[in-house]
Parts: sequence; structure tokens; C-alpha cells
Amino acid sequence: MTTAPELSVVMPIYNEQDALPLTVERLRPILDGLGVEYEVVGVDDGSTDATPLQMQKIRQDWPEFRIVRFSRNSGHQAALKAGLHRAFGDYVVSIDADLQDPPEKIPEMLELARERSLDIVYGVRGDRGTDSFFKRRTAGGYYWLMRKLVGKRMPNQAGDYRLLSRAAVDALKTMPEHQPVYRLLVPWLGFPSGEVVYVREERVAGATHYPIGKMVHLALDSVTNFSAAPLRLATWLGLGSFLVCLVLGAYTAIEHAIGNTVPGWSSLFIGMLFIGAVQLICVGLLGEYVGRIYSAVQARPAYFIGYDSAEESAAAEAEK
Ligand code: UDP
Ligand code: MG
Repeated sequence: MTTAPELSVVMPIYNEQDALPLTVERLRPILDGLGVEYEVVGVDDGSTDATPLQMQKIRQDWPEFRIVRFSRNSGHQAALKAGLHRAFGDYVVSIDADLQDPPEKIPEMLELARERSLDIVYGVRGDRGTDSFFKRRTAGGYYWLMRKLVGKRMPNQAGDYRLLSRAAVDALKTMPEHQPVYRLLVPWLGFPSGEVVYVREERVAGATHYPIGKMVHLALDSVTNFSAAPLRLATWLGLGSFLVCLVLGAYTAIEHAIGNTVPGWSSLFIGMLFIGAVQLICVGLLGEYVGRIYSAVQARPAYFIGYDSAEESAAAEAEK
């Protein structure tokens, strides 16, 4: 490619053999209809089903579809990171591969960004009616907590469907995070932003790759990546338990003075349990941070690129 395209679409793809063809079928006419030069960066996050084969096939009759493949599964955020780092466009849209983010909103995002010179256009989930009750509840709690940590700049219910300008992407690229959580990093940039409301559709095929374990992981990454508040919480807990100990101590002293020393046993026992619990909580929280410091010090890359179709094209170009 000689000039940078106007638009890049970054799509993390992991075991989406049933969804991907349907996604491409719906996405391509929309992008073709934009009348701008574009590229799609499909990041194959180490799929183990027929997805890699399908991506090759898609690329055969859609030259704008680039393939970046990880050597192994590295996670949704790592795939996003690779896509952002390898996209060339003046604007970059990130979108899921399962049609939960309707691609019909891309022209609207682009128009809004251009019209109002915005660096960020969030896709905001207006209706989550198709998500399960459990997912809606946990997501509600997640966004509430994140807005407490990052502040109101973080729009409620904004996931990873969004448009970024070149400036915003370049700013994100300067961040050396090993476990980036883009839905927090992007609002944290503080660049001019707008919103496009969309309806979160049902996954078109296959099953979610975000089981409860990964959701908890994302929430923990989000909190520890962005705030030392949990450490402060530990301090408050410590202070609180100290106060409780003072009260219990005074109570025991009075009981002792009156001569009722035997009944003190139960309060002592409860106190010991309580302090033990608080200490465990604090140690657990410290462990979260220490674990992350450890992985940062190790400085392992978040992913390894096994293949990038752009490099292949460049090599073919050089041979000519
Ligand atoms: N995904 C990925 N790596 C993973 C898990 C998911 O690249 O380890 C991709 C997946 O293919 C999809 C997007 O990230 O395009 C969102 O994942 P999913 O739909 O499973 O999550 P949900 O929408 O249920 O939160
Ligand atoms: Mg999904």
C-alpha cells in the first residue's frame, strides 16, 4: 500500500468459524459503500478451528482484508493492541467479529468524527436486551465501578466498538502496558469525543469467549491497572478493624473490672477471626499488585506475531 487508507477496521477474531463469513458478508458492502480507501485488519488470536483457513479465503477475494495471526491465544485486548499497532488508517474502528456490534454504525461514526473533528467516537450500548440477565447485571456493576475509578469521562456502557483518530491511536501506542484495558485507557486520554448509540445484537453464531473467569480477570485488570484505590481500601479496612479492636478492648477491660472475665472468650475469638479475615483481604490485594509488577518486570510481550499478510505483500512487491 503506497498511501495510508482513510479507514482501518480492526477485528479481533478467535474461533469464529461460524460467525466470520456472516460478519464479512454484512461488513464488506458497508465499507465498499463509504467511497474511501480502507483496510480491514483481522487479528486471528490463535484460533484452533477453521477460522485461519477462512481468513485466507476471505483475503483471496477481498484484498483490503489483511491478516495478522498470533502464534497462540493471547486474549481480546492483546488482539486489539496488535490491530491498533498495525493499522495504517487515519481513522481506526475496532469491532467484534460476531456481529454484536452492528457494522451499519461505522459510516455514522466516521461522519460524526469528521463533522465535529472528534478523536474518539464511542459505540454506546443503548439496549442490552439480547444479553442474559446475568451479563447485564455484571456489566452494570462493572461500569459503575469503572466510572468511580476513571471518572465520568468514561461513558456508561461503552465497550470496544469505537472509532479512534490517528492522533488517539498514536497516543495509545505510546503506552507500554502489558495488559491494556482499552475501554479505560481511551477515555483516560481525554481527547474530544462523541457517542453513537447502538443496539447490542445477539451473537450471530458460536458461543461467547468471555466466561465468568475471564470477566473477573478483566475486572481485576481494569481495577489494578487504573487505580491504587484497592490498596487504600485495605488501609481503611485496617483502620476500621483497629477501631473495632479499641471498642472491644474497652469492653473487655470493663468486663474485667466488674469481674466477668470468663464471658470475654467469645469476643476474643470473634476478634481474632475478624482480624485474620482483614489481613487475608489485604494480603490478597497486595498480591494482585505484586503479581502485576512481576509480569511487568519480566517484560514479556503481550503477543507474538506469527504472520502478517502486509509483510508478505511487501516482500512480493520488492521481488518485482
Ligand atoms: N476474542 C479474541 N480473543 C479471545 C476472546 C475473544 O480475539 O480470547 C474476540 C472474539 O472473536 C470477538 C471479540 O473478541 O470478536 C469479543 O469476544 P466475545 O464475543 O466472545 O465476547 P462477548 O461479546 O461475549 O463479551
Ligand atoms: Mg460477542
